[in-house]
Order: sequence, then C-alpha cells, then structure tokens
Amino acid sequence: MKCEVCGREAESRFCEAHEMAYRNLKGKYEEWRSAMDITWEDYLREVLKNPLTGVWVKEVAEHLLSKSESPDSDRGDVAT
Ligand SMILES: [Zn+2]
Repeated sequence: MKCEVCGREAESRFCEAHEMAYRNLKGKYEEWRSAMDITWEDYLREVLKNPLTGVWVKEVAEHLLSKSESPDSDRGDVAT
C-alpha cells in the first residue's frame, strides 16, 4: 500500500508521518467542534490558513479537502 499523500510505502492509507498528522488533525477537530460550530471542511481550510500548521498536517488537510472526506468515513460509523 502507498501513502495517499506522498506515495511512500505505507502500512495503511498514510505513511507514518502523514498518519500521525491525520490523527492530530482529527483530534484537534474534536476540540474545535466542542468549542464552536464548524464543519470538517471549514476546519481544514482554517488549518491550511494557519501559518503555524506543520507541513505534514497541511499536506494531509489539502488531500482530504480535495476528496471532501469526512473524518468518520474510514470507520463506517456515524459520530454524534
Ligand atoms: Zn505520506
């Protein structure tokens, strides 16, 4: 399997670095969502606008935005 973002050899859909970035993104989104009314896509756009966002995280965010993928779609269940 290859990382969807960088094409490196990976054990899952992302390589280790992008997998970690993806988890960070999802974890932070939970925080943001509990503090304000924000959709996943708006959140990703905010992340991309933030100059403090790391390059790995931005690459993952860009990738997810281009696919319009929700954070729960890889689990097959619906978060409430
Ligand atoms: Zn990667």
